[in-house]
Amino acid sequence: MDLYSGYINKLIDELAALPGIGGKSAQRLAFYIIGMSPARVRKLSETILSAKEHVCYCHECQNLTDSELCPICSNPSRDKSTIMVVENPRDLAAYERTGKYNGLYHVLHGAISPMLGVGPGDIKLKELIERLRGDQVKEVIIATNSNLEGETTAMYISKLIRPAGVKTTRIASGVPVGGDLEYIDEMTLLRALEGRTEM
Ligand SMILES: [Zn+2]
Repeated sequence: MDLYSGYINKLIDELAALPGIGGKSAQRLAFYIIGMSPARVRKLSETILSAKEHVCYCHECQNLTDSELCPICSNPSRDKSTIMVVENPRDLAAYERTGKYNGLYHVLHGAISPMLGVGPGDIKLKELIERLRGDQVKEVIIATNSNLEGETTAMYISKLIRPAGVKTTRIASGVPVGGDLEYIDEMTLLRALEGRTEM
């Protein structure tokens, strides 16, 4: 016998399917939402819907944005000769928080993982190659994570862009192995960036 009504169970199931939310948290959130005023619940669902509707990929760097170009790509004072390749928008945010990097980014939205069936065609690599046409870009800094997937992706990218003749560097391994960039403190990120080596 189900403990709760179908509606509550459905809400708990949907919430539990979100990353980082276990069964207990999903239950707590579901009950919290049920206890909210109808106006607040409407506002929450409308916010989710409109974010989904308006957020898209930046035409240049593939970061999430709500216009054709993200604020970084459309900022004329950013150094357009350097592109830092990161796995996801959270990694980009981590480097932006250091306030010390003034180049552009490229967000892959994933990393190559044969184990998980993620191939080069499943991440935003084609878009990166497109950006290397012309001679504006002088350096590509590969800042994928230092776990197996991140290293595999870094190797793949360095081979892929070699014909373009662009200098390719890899952030230093001051970043702990298996560490997710977003959880690493700013000093470590800066050291990794400054200690980057040519691939
Ligand atoms: Zn952008």
